[in-house]
Parts: sequence; structure tokens; C-alpha cells
Amino acid sequence: MRRITKTNTPEFWSQYLQKRRNLTYQALVQTEEGRNIARKLRESLVDEQKFLCAYCCQRISPDHAHNEHICPKERYPQKSMCYENIVASCETKGAQSTCGHSKQNRFDEALFVSPLQEGCERHFRFFSDGQIEGKTKQGRYTVELLNLNAYRLRQARKAVFEACFYGSKGDAEYIEWYLNEDGEELNPFIDMIQYFKQKGEFDSSLMLIPPKEDD
Ligand SMILES: [Zn+2]
Repeated sequence: MRRITKTNTPEFWSQYLQKRRNLTYQALVQTEEGRNIARKLRESLVDEQKFLCAYCCQRISPDHAHNEHICPKERYPQKSMCYENIVASCETKGAQSTCGHSKQNRFDEALFVSPLQEGCERHFRFFSDGQIEGKTKQGRYTVELLNLNAYRLRQARKAVFEACFYGSKGDAEYIEWYLNEDGEELNPFIDMIQYFKQKGEFDSSLMLIPPKEDD
């Protein structure tokens, strides 16, 4: 997870809400006009998050993402149109659902680690086989709720780790490039690579030593 810093509410969103103060998200998506606005919001969120899922940090696009309500829209209808409560999350289906689709209405506000929280990254640790683990009670709850150890996600993280660790052969420039945040799009699982970099895994003197798997 990577911290998301929300920009101001987009103009089109606040203008639309000005005339519809009691509108809920469920009511919004009943109409075609509303669905178009919701789509525009998704595009704006994907841009804001530089094309990464708010929770798992895999790549998303406006066509492969959904508007995810941190406080679930069914349980918190009064917050369902609040820009601060909505992020873009990846599209997954069935038993391997992750992130927003895994979370659905299950949500304990006291335990959930939100990507809007400062220091949210500190609740998680990563392993070279693609696993993620909660370091705190909140982190463990969140990993479970979002199903962040789904097979597909673990495999994808492992591939990125191996490309950075073995593929770059200790090339600090490659890691710098991977972690660069200046562009419009971020590299997938940048949170994991940042974690390993902070642990010193990519220091050239350590490249021949198998990665440490604990803090
Ligand atoms: Zn995701």
C-alpha cells in the first residue's frame, strides 16, 4: 500500500453535487448521466493514483478499475458521494477477488489501514516470494480483508521483485528509475520495491546474498 494524497475535489464532481445534496452513490448510478459522471470520477481517481490500485498497487486503468468506497457505500450512504471516501481499485472476480471486491461491506474502521493514512506503509512487510504480511494487528486485518495474498497477486509481486533484484544485477539506476514518482504513471508494486530498498536489499554489496525475510 502506498499513501494517496487527495487533491481538491474535482470541479465537475462538486458542481454536480451542488444541485443534488442528498444524492447517494447508489442513486447516482441508476441513471446514464450519473454513470457518466461516475466514469469521469474514476478517470480522475486513476490519474490521482498514477494508475495504481489504491490497495494492492497493481496497474489499473479507467477501463479496468472501479470506484471503491473506503467506508462502504451501503453502510455509510451519507459518505457515498464524498470525494475523500472514494479511491480507484482493481477489477477482480470470483474466489480470487482482491481489494475493493474482496472487502465489499466487511469493514472495521478501527482496524482498517486506509491508503489515505499517513504512514500506512508501515503496517506491512513483503517477502521475496511475493507474500505480504501485516506487521501490526491492523495490517493483518487489512491483508486478510483485501485478500492481498491471492495467488495471482503473489505471483505478480514475485515477478517484479525478481526483475528488480536479479534482472537489474544491483543496478542502482534501474531501482531509482523504478521508484521514480515524477511521471504520470507509477511502476506496479512500487510500495514493495520501496520496502526492499529501505531494507538495503538492493545495495550492490548485498546482491549475492539471498534477501532477508524479516525486519
Ligand atoms: Zn488491487
